[in-house]
Parts: sequence; C-alpha cells; structure tokens
Amino acid sequence: GGEQYDYDLIVIGCGVGGHGAALHAVDCGLKVAVIEGHDIGGTCVNRGCVPSKALLAASNEVRKLRNDHHQKTLGIQLNGVATFDRQAIADHATNLASTVQGNLQRSLESLGVTILKGQAKLTGPHTVSYGLPGRVDVGGSATAKDIIIATGSVPFVPGGIEVDGKTVFTSDHALKMEWLPNWIAIIGSGYIGLEFSDVYTALGCEVTFVEALPNMMPGFDREIAKLAQRLLINGRPIDFHTNVIASKVTPGVPGVKPVKIELTDFSTKEVVDELEVDACLVATGRAPYTNGLNLASVNVQTDRRGFVPVNDKMQVVDTSGKAVPNLYCIGDANGKYMLAHAASAQGIAAVECMCGRDRVVNHMAVPAACFTHPEVSFVGMTEDAAREKAEKEGWADKLGVSKTYYKANSKSLAELESDGMAKMMYRKDTGEILGVHMIGLHSADNIHEFSNAMNMGQTLGDLKFNVHAHPTVAEVNEELIRHAQLDKTAAA
Ligand code: FAD
Repeated sequence: GGEQYDYDLIVIGCGVGGHGAALHAVDCGLKVAVIEGHDIGGTCVNRGCVPSKALLAASNEVRKLRNDHHQKTLGIQLNGVATFDRQAIADHATNLASTVQGNLQRSLESLGVTILKGQAKLTGPHTVSYGLPGRVDVGGSATAKDIIIATGSVPFVPGGIEVDGKTVFTSDHALKMEWLPNWIAIIGSGYIGLEFSDVYTALGCEVTFVEALPNMMPGFDREIAKLAQRLLINGRPIDFHTNVIASKVTPGVPGVKPVKIELTDFSTKEVVDELEVDACLVATGRAPYTNGLNLASVNVQTDRRGFVPVNDKMQVVDTSGKAVPNLYCIGDANGKYMLAHAASAQGIAAVECMCGRDRVVNHMAVPAACFTHPEVSFVGMTEDAAREKAEKEGWADKLGVSKTYYKANSKSLAELESDGMAKMMYRKDTGEILGVHMIGLHSADNIHEFSNAMNMGQTLGDLKFNVHAHPTVAEVNEELIRHAQLDKTAAA
C-alpha cells in the first residue's frame, strides 16, 4: 500500500492488455485506476479481433450455404441462392463489440477499478495527467506507485496511399461494412488482409492482393503458407501480385469512379502496372499509439517506429539503457508480439514483477492464429527458423519434422472440412518441441495443447500418453505426436 499515492497502479489505455493487467492487479490486492481516451476494450474489442470474428462467422455461413457440394452431401435443399443482408451482418459485428465492451466495463467496475476518462500523459515518474481536447469537465491528474503504458496501436498507412475512409480504407472502416465493392484490392497479405479476403470472397466480392514481399503470407511457415495459398486463395475469386508495392493509391467514388492503384516493382522501383478497382483495403501493419505520452519526462525515447523500448520484464528502458523504476509498457505499444492475448499475458507479467515475483512471458510459447476458413495457427519456430538454429548450433541431424493431414480426421470429414495439415518441429534427442503449425478446421483452438506444453517446458515424452476425445480435431495432435521419431536413447 502506498499512502503517498492516489493508487498503487495506474494503467494508461484500457484495451485487452490494460484490462488484463488491471484485473490481475486487483487479484494481487492493488488499488487500481485505468485511464482510457476512447472506448474500453481498445482495438481488439471495438476495431479488431471481436468484430472481425463476427463478420467471419456470418460470411462463412453464406459461403457454406452457397457451396453446392456442401449442400448436396449434407442433404440440404435451398431452392435458390442463399441471400444475405449486408446491414444485418454489419450490425452483428457492432452489437458483438458493444456486448463485449459492456462485459469488460462491468468486470472492472465490479472489482472496484476506477475508470478515468481522457487522453493521458506522463508528467513525472509517478504522475499522470489526463483530459480530452475541448472538454473542461473531463480530466485531472493522479499519482501511482506503478504505471503501465498500454496504449496499443493504430493502422499503419504507407506514404503515397490516400485513405478517404470510403473507397480507400483500413480495417477501422472495413469492419463497419458500409458497402460491398464488387472488386477490392487488399494491400498486404498478413493475417488482417487474409481474414478480410475470407469475408469478402464469401460474400461474392473479387479480391486482388498486393504483397511487397516475394511470397504471400510472409512470416508464416513456408509449407503452410503454400498450402494456405491453395486453400484460401487459388480456389476463390482472388488473384495476387507479389514483389510489388502500392506506391500510389487514389480514392474513387463508389459506383462512379474507380480507385487507382499504381504498382511499383519492389526491387527495381519501376512502375509495372496500374489497377482500377472499386475499393482498396490497406492492411500493411500497425503503428504504435505512443506519441503524446510525454515520455521525455522520464528520459525515455521510442524507437524509430514509435515503439516503447522495454526489457523482458516489460519495464520501460530509458535512453541510457536502464529500466525506469515502476514504469512498464505492454501490448502493441512495445511491439514485441502484436496480438491481444500477448498483450494481456505481458500485463499480468508486469503486475507480477511489481509485486516482487519476477515473471517473463515466453513469447516462443504464445500461440498465433488467423481466423480464415480453414484457420491457420502456430506457436514457436517455423521449419526454416528451426533448421537455421539447428545448423548454427550443430545439431541439424537431431531436428525432426512430423506431419499429418486432416483428411484422416473423422471429425473434419464429418463436417466436410478435411483440407489441412499440421506439422511440428522438435528435437529427436530431447523431445523438445520447437514449433507447431497448422492449417485446418478449428486449428486456432487446437494449437493450445502445444502452446501450453511449450509454456510448461514439457517435451514430447510428456505428451505421449495424452488422451484426446474421439472424434475431435484434437486427434490431429495425437497423430502429430505419434509420428514424431524420437531417438531410442532419448530421455524423452
Ligand atoms: P489496444 O487494444 O489498441 O488498446 C489500447 C487502448 O489505449 C485504446 O483503447 C486507446 O484508446 C487507449 N489509449 C491510447 N493512448 C492513450 C492515452 N494516451 N491515454 C488514454 N488512453 C489511451 N489479435 C488477436 O490476438 N486475435 C485476433 O483475432 C486479432 N484480430 C485483429 C483484427 C483486426 C482487424 C485488428 C486491427 C487487430 C486484430 N488483433 C488480433 C490485434 C489486437 O487487436 C491487438 O494486438 C490488441 O488490441 C493489442 O492490445 P493493447 O491492449 O496493446 O492495445
């Protein structure tokens, strides 16, 4: 308890990261305030994970109902093409976001967390001031022993792209689904671009991807990305350009004037093509929302891209490289792992540290998922990364790769969703799990057996006798474990 401060902990920004930190701090007996400048729940609840999953759920129903093979095999007769109401789908996303926002707000209130409204900035090591422009009734200043910065991120829009929010837009606008273009260009083939292409194609739009790197889905395991390309791209009204950047994007007028996109070769920088499409979604990553925090008051400088530098305890590091006492930064604002559950895991770790129990998030055991149909998920290293590490450390002969396919999985077959594969990289001598990658039905749920095992430091030897309910997609995991060839001499 710190009588000299208003609170034990102030959390700046109440997205999923800040919310998770606040709840854990209450559990640890701390007196907590959160300061939020916009909406409780942040990006994830209001403009990210949550509404996007509503659009994906609705559009996937439409996709299934329009799939003749699916209908026939399951014995369903529709007598005509399934139609949908765009506005109703959009409302589902908006309503879901407000339901979840309400849940978060109530959980904070019921635990006695003080919710302060306003845009906050540091005014010293233990003080924060907050307010809203043009509002004299909102704001003030408060002190705390510890402070967590959890201010998240906003869409990153590269130079040359003019966003009008109507025909050229980011995920912020796309989630509102105000209209449906016939043809949309999506710039960037990361998970946000892929999820939206899943939605758009299910609803009958054509998609053109523009990707700067040589391959679609950079960052994913190469083999999985290749299969994903077959399942998520080739069978759908999608074409793609790789190795090109959208150097200039000019908005149009819906139904009147097309959006113009100039394509430039990534290496030669020469203009190679021009596209004319109805709309353009810019999904080129996210930028930290950290300016205006007055970090200079604690001698801290963000990196070139605006991320707040932290050590592995999530303590903010100042310009001399030393941790600033009592100041933490979690979630998208530090750029370590820009996913919702990583933000809250970091928030919990930061609170543990301020309570004297040092805790470090093992990011290699944090799962990631792309909620397309089928879903793509992974944890740990890709095959390329595992191979590179093994070669560098001289144990390349001990690297094992186990693979299995969903086409033998009864549950997936029953649901007519048996396209997919799973692979695992492991050490044959110790049974250490290095990485697992999946594309297939419910793979975002199914990855947890491995991420939890990795988080606990369990080896394949520990998983060998796990029992999985039959028939479930989790039996894919059992196959993956069974196919792993461990050295006979291994302790595993
Ligand atoms: P945020 O959620 O961005 O919250 C930060 C909060 O801080 C905001 O509410 C903001 O208003 C507030 N704030 C900022 N500055 C201040 C200030 N100075 N004073 C007061 N308040 C301030 N992740 C997943 O794990 N799964 C998904 O399926 C997924 N889907 C996504 C889909 C889309 C379309 C997008 C855009 C993102 C998605 N993400 C997903 C990523 C996820 O949304 C982020 O990783 C997550 O929201 C980060 O949480 P955070 O708490 O760090 O920041």
